[in-house]
Amino acid sequence: MPHSNPYDFPVVRVGGLATASVTRRQLADCMVQDCMAARNDRERWLPKVVLSSNGQGIALAGRDPAFAGAMAQADIIHADGMPVVLASRLTRHPLPERIATTDFFHDAAHAAERHGLRFYILGAKEQQNRAAVEAIQRLYPKVEIVGSRDGYFASDQDDAVCEEIRRSRADVLWVALGKPRQEYWAIRNRRNLQGVGWIKTCGGLYAFLAGDAPRAPLWMQKLGLEWLFRALDDPKHLLWRYVITNPVAAYRLVRYTQRAPVF
Ligand code: UDP
Repeated sequence: MPHSNPYDFPVVRVGGLATASVTRRQLADCMVQDCMAARNDRERWLPKVVLSSNGQGIALAGRDPAFAGAMAQADIIHADGMPVVLASRLTRHPLPERIATTDFFHDAAHAAERHGLRFYILGAKEQQNRAAVEAIQRLYPKVEIVGSRDGYFASDQDDAVCEEIRRSRADVLWVALGKPRQEYWAIRNRRNLQGVGWIKTCGGLYAFLAGDAPRAPLWMQKLGLEWLFRALDDPKHLLWRYVITNPVAAYRLVRYTQRAPVF
């Protein structure tokens, strides 16, 4: 989080991370405002980096100062995890709702249709990236997708990737490179992406859009059990992650949540 908060929502420290106490709708409005401001000042505008907080990220930030440092440079961190929302009740500004990136994407796409915002879709394997782009075009025919590319490139290609994105005149850059690569990538490359309104990290979003991964039933999402559903759906990849990170995240959510707001 920068040293001041230009947005009109409070920011509270939950599990060590400065987290926006914001609704999905407000967040989509912020996206539109920032993208419009970027269009008015394309040469100088540096993208806002919008990251999300969940148990895995909280645990990782606790044990890896470099990742904590990257998270601290975000312009907005929203809560993509029910436990984060529950822990925020210990603060003076409890979070009004969970903002899963997979849900927020649809708010953002509706707003993009209304305001003519352009999306760039970065990350995932080529086939999944293509399937996600097709799904977005089918669901939101009015959203202009001005570019896309897979997420398997070396860091010495960053400059070329950024140049392509700048040239595309994208307003919102969606970045799915997995945690923590996507957070590091967004922070490291924002200075090379003048004129882009927002960089939004989005982890497994394209797998959901492409239909490669099912969403948990609503009752599990409401109980904060989406992680369990995902772990059982893909145990080889995810079960161990949650077994390790959940207890650490639970501890940090109690120990590093502060009543007084950051902003
Ligand atoms: N991914 C990528 N490049 C990489 C590593 C991962 O594009 O170097 C993609 C991967 O294909 C997947 C997405 O990042 O579509 C999210 O991966 P994962 O599920 O591991 O991330 P998480 O959900 O933990 O953020």
